Amino acid sequence: MKTPIYLDNHATTRVDPRVVEAMLPHFTEDFGNAASRNHAFGWVAEEAVEQAREQVAALIGAGAKEVVFTSGATESDNAALVGVAEFYKEKGDHIITATIEHKAVLDTCQMLEQRGFRVTYLEVDEKGSIDLEQLEAAITDKTTLISLMAANNEIGTLHPLKEIGAIARKHGVLFHCDATQGVGHQKIDVEEMNIDLASYTAHKIYGPKGIGALYVRRRKPRVRITPIIYGGGHERGIRSGTLNVPGIVGFGKAAELMLADGPTENQRIRALRDRLREGITREIDFVYLNGHAEFRHPGNLNLSFAFVEGESMLMGIDDIAVSSGSACTSASLEPSYVLRALGVGDDLAHSSIRFGVGRFNTEEEIDHTIRRVVETVSRLRDMSPLYELAQEGVDIKSIQWNAH
Ligand SMILES: *Cc1c(COP(=O)(O)O)cnc(C)c1O
Repeated sequence: MKTPIYLDNHATTRVDPRVVEAMLPHFTEDFGNAASRNHAFGWVAEEAVEQAREQVAALIGAGAKEVVFTSGATESDNAALVGVAEFYKEKGDHIITATIEHKAVLDTCQMLEQRGFRVTYLEVDEKGSIDLEQLEAAITDKTTLISLMAANNEIGTLHPLKEIGAIARKHGVLFHCDATQGVGHQKIDVEEMNIDLASYTAHKIYGPKGIGALYVRRRKPRVRITPIIYGGGHERGIRSGTLNVPGIVGFGKAAELMLADGPTENQRIRALRDRLREGITREIDFVYLNGHAEFRHPGNLNLSFAFVEGESMLMGIDDIAVSSGSACTSASLEPSYVLRALGVGDDLAHSSIRFGVGRFNTEEEIDHTIRRVVETVSRLRDMSPLYELAQEGVDIKSIQWNAH
């Protein structure tokens, strides 16, 4: 077993060797521009792009013509939100999203608010779930778009896409789904779920970075969006610019592998994730699961460890690559806005760890991680007087501190 161990698969994933192999010829022999119509270099590239378009579309039950290639899910989210808001602004000026969406959605919404649009941010309960009645009640005759993600990238909670899609359809509102963490890990079918626009990206499904897709429904209803990048009219005029052919081919291969192996692979990943959770919670107390216990991304485990300090925790498990719910590694001390939206207190948010299990993780790595986490938490708690009190049954929150 090699260290460091990679358990941060929600941040990005290793490119599958089969994906690399599919991409390689498109850097060398088959380097053509897919828009070149006059020679074989262009034709070969175009054919490869169209095959990939079908593979990428199939992953969400879409038609190939409904897929627009972008630079990634951030761009797709921007294009969907800005594109719908601008195109349908005569119809209405209101968008609905939730407080725990990805920053690519939230920051775009904030920008749209500055441009005069109105945004409702749905709150979530302590598991990260929205209330469908609240969603429906938030819709007005000025609402043009609902934007809710498939699986949350921090806490793994899934939104009920089919129910959301049904509500959106009933009210004639478009439904955009940031499906970046969902594709391949849960069933996503744009027809069954009435999804009108969807964002996803190759590098979260063992493909290369810098290539993503925006699904834009073409019929029932035909969705129109204003472009955010202007130029030669590529990608139905929605997204101009020379296509990233090697990236697109890699995305196509990654999607094909996910579609074929996803269901079995997810069982294996879920089993590893559960092994990790059980291994940790069997040995140490005062560990809290963030997010929903069942309605959850199979590879996601987000735990808060009471009575340890986040920074020390990360240093203690420094041969394991994970993410932390505290941003104290960066300049601010702001804890994760997602955990805060669940009502997790600052202390527990700061001591939270996001484990993201993926395709290339092994049982051996999981067991090593369990040992390291248990060792580190035990060692840190040996130095914590609060932990001692808690073990004796004292409710720490009830202590009246003598502050001077
Ligand atoms: C990673 C991620 C993104 C951003 O994708 P990029 O391709 O890196 O721009 C957007 N949304 C979610 C939910 C993500 O996990």
